[in-house]
Amino acid sequence: MQVQNFNDLPLSKDVLRGIKALGFENPSPIQAQSIMPLLEGRDVIGQAQTGTGKTAAFGIPMVESIDLSDKRVQGLVLAPTRELAVQIAEHISRISRYTGVRVCPIYGGEKINRQIQQLKRGVHIVVGTPGRTIDHLERGTLRLGAVRMVVLDEADRMLDMGFVNDINKILDRVPEDRQTSLFSATMDRNVWKICDRYMDRPEKILVSKDEIALVQIEQRY
Ligand code: AMP
Repeated sequence: MQVQNFNDLPLSKDVLRGIKALGFENPSPIQAQSIMPLLEGRDVIGQAQTGTGKTAAFGIPMVESIDLSDKRVQGLVLAPTRELAVQIAEHISRISRYTGVRVCPIYGGEKINRQIQQLKRGVHIVVGTPGRTIDHLERGTLRLGAVRMVVLDEADRMLDMGFVNDINKILDRVPEDRQTSLFSATMDRNVWKICDRYMDRPEKILVSKDEIALVQIEQRY
């Protein structure tokens, strides 16, 4: 089903308000195709590059699915770099702005104590780089026992950067009955291996090159 409008999706008033405040009028192709299966709890593989709106494609259903009465981490997003983790966390925070859902980025290069304080106060969604996520797991400052949704963003880049063992270690600490989604610009053998190992009958969404540009982005050459 291709969704034409955010209002056609079963989203709460507060999430729709956040989307509106971001200035989004209509879902981009990757959003139109992945939000519904993610809301239904299915695993999703999205082949999509940056600029397609993929962050909101997984961020919107994740925020919508958080149980506010549970203060434990329910959503985990893994991303290859500090910059990306910060950017994703900011984007999801803006979507969740009117909902009370708390989001925290964790990444190397920043004092760990600040992140520990934030985690202690209770966050629903963690966006982490693999190395720092392992660090928090080993210190016992991050617990993933209540995680119901995992997103691997820019999976090809994470594998290129040598994070495969870290990803395996982290995913082995998350409950098995979680939802797993994976976004990647390219799908090579190693990315498929991760999909085979951790995903259950995933829905595959391919956003073709000529579809990926958002209408709002002006293109020149
Ligand atoms: P991303 O691919 O997630 O990095 O998003 C690329 C850019 O597109 C970001 O600046 C988003 O804020 C913007 N964007 C994402 N979804 C939409 C949408 N449905 N309408 C307009 N802009 C969007």
